[in-house]
Amino acid sequence: MSVAYISHPTCLQHEMGMHHPEQPARLSAIQDRLVASGLGMVLLNYDASVATDEQLLLAHTRPYIEQVKSVSPKQGHVWLDGDTAMNPHTLDAALHAAGAVVQGVDLVMAGTAKQAFCAVRPPGHHAERAVSMGFCIFNNIAIGAKHALRRHGLERVAIVDFDVHHGNGTEDIVAGDPGILFCSTFQHPFYPHSGYDSKAPNVVNIPLPSGTTGSEFREAVYTGWLPRLREFAPQLLLISAGFDAHQADDMANLNLIDDDYFWVTRQLCRVADECADGRIVSVLEGGYDLHALARSVEAHIKAFYGD
Ligand SMILES: [Zn+2]
Repeated sequence: MSVAYISHPTCLQHEMGMHHPEQPARLSAIQDRLVASGLGMVLLNYDASVATDEQLLLAHTRPYIEQVKSVSPKQGHVWLDGDTAMNPHTLDAALHAAGAVVQGVDLVMAGTAKQAFCAVRPPGHHAERAVSMGFCIFNNIAIGAKHALRRHGLERVAIVDFDVHHGNGTEDIVAGDPGILFCSTFQHPFYPHSGYDSKAPNVVNIPLPSGTTGSEFREAVYTGWLPRLREFAPQLLLISAGFDAHQADDMANLNLIDDDYFWVTRQLCRVADECADGRIVSVLEGGYDLHALARSVEAHIKAFYGD
């Protein structure tokens, strides 16, 4: 029973200015907490590999990939949208972030690890096929899902997204793909103002009002996600693990606590145990209160080891 932890030093070098909430300290806080808790001792540590163009093309258009590569700055910042910037290290970090998920999929499919957690940034779930936004450049999880279908010949992969924001980019890329089921909970109305009227049959969106509590979130997962996941019976489960629905996170207004992340992860482990030999690859998305983020990631990873 082993859990892989995949990250890369270059993910700490991507930064978007001193006061930007999506900051390198997020990864340091997670790393420190895992060391302090002793979990760091038992995780299998991997340096993320770099995503190839062929892998990026699973989720993005060639002109978009070329555009991101061509604007990568030699110094200072280049802004891709109002809140997403590149510094000289960002391209390398983004390639490793996408590569980490591909690697996580390869590790769990090979049986080297049962689950993998990708501690990477920039995050990915807002990145659409040809648009970077919301701190995201490449859609790490969508690339991983498509890689699992293409490279490993799987027929059914589920993506579950509990970040407080709707994963508009993931939906843009996977909507209508019969090999992928996308389940999401998110605050609504809220950034990026999508997902509440989705029509694709492979998308299960559950908008949650401001102020939603942990028990209301659990009810939504229990009645909305779990039956659809069991019906779909994924051979691999991917998690867009954003922790910004935590009550301590002032990016949004949901009221989850650390234990809700343990609970939801346990539910997903049970589904994965039933139909996917337990295989889960989880990928960091949001989470901006450093203490709550670090504790919630610890709870999330602990849940992989059981009750
Ligand atoms: Zn978020």
